[in-house]
Amino acid sequence: MYLVETVSKKQHVSTVKATPFDPAATADRFSVAGRVAGFRIEQYGEIDGFPLIALTKRAPGQRPRIYISAGMHGDEPAPPLTLLTLLETGFFDERATWFICPILNPTGLVRGTRENATGLDLNRDFFDIQAAETRAHICWLQRQPPFHLTLCIHEDWESTGYYLYELNPHQRPSLAEPILAAVRAFCPIDESPVIDGRTTAAPGIIRPIDDPLLRETWPEAIYLRAHHTTISYTLESPSAFPLESRITAHRAAITSATMRLIHDLSKSSAYPPPSPP
Ligand SMILES: [Zn+2]
Repeated sequence: MYLVETVSKKQHVSTVKATPFDPAATADRFSVAGRVAGFRIEQYGEIDGFPLIALTKRAPGQRPRIYISAGMHGDEPAPPLTLLTLLETGFFDERATWFICPILNPTGLVRGTRENATGLDLNRDFFDIQAAETRAHICWLQRQPPFHLTLCIHEDWESTGYYLYELNPHQRPSLAEPILAAVRAFCPIDESPVIDGRTTAAPGIIRPIDDPLLRETWPEAIYLRAHHTTISYTLESPSAFPLESRITAHRAAITSATMRLIHDLSKSSAYPPPSPP
């Protein structure tokens, strides 16, 4: 019915209940698998009794510093589960120095809601910070060195396929095409000319306004681009597809993006080290 179709995305998504997700048990699995894989596990905060955790693993010598986050929206279970799968299968090796925040919104995840338990969309909270989760997350980020690449992993209940947002203000070699080429083997790409209200730059690729000063609200990616990285991707899998397919698609995307970056950095000076913000 028209009324239902015309409600805003935020209102619409808030009513959706995702697959049940146990943030505490998942955090335990991240801790156990992370230690086995040589990560340092840091609890940077706590919300309603749930730990907020970050995993870091520093490789010897000069290696790209790669940050990956997941679990920002509680109705998007595939992103944290993808990172857990990668961790448990030994993906995060010494080719890079890794910074991982896998469960950013545990009170949303336990409820299966986009927002946290107090109704805040944490991915609109990075300018005028309201949520304790965002405050703790930013405190942690401010203690980290600049990143060569950041990946924010998400899902979209309305998309017909996989797509991504690219923030690449310094025109570094784009990773967008390699990412989508890797995903295409497992999941269709959303070929719509307009996705999430934005005109695409190419099939499955959105290049939003990246000047933070022109943005009314700051998602995590805009904050990262302003303070922590020179190239950033937000990866979106289609929630209507089976969970296993979404995990496989995200796994292919993350593998492609990180391996391409590591390869490019190892053979050329295409990516100079990011300058401190
Ligand atoms: Zn999301």
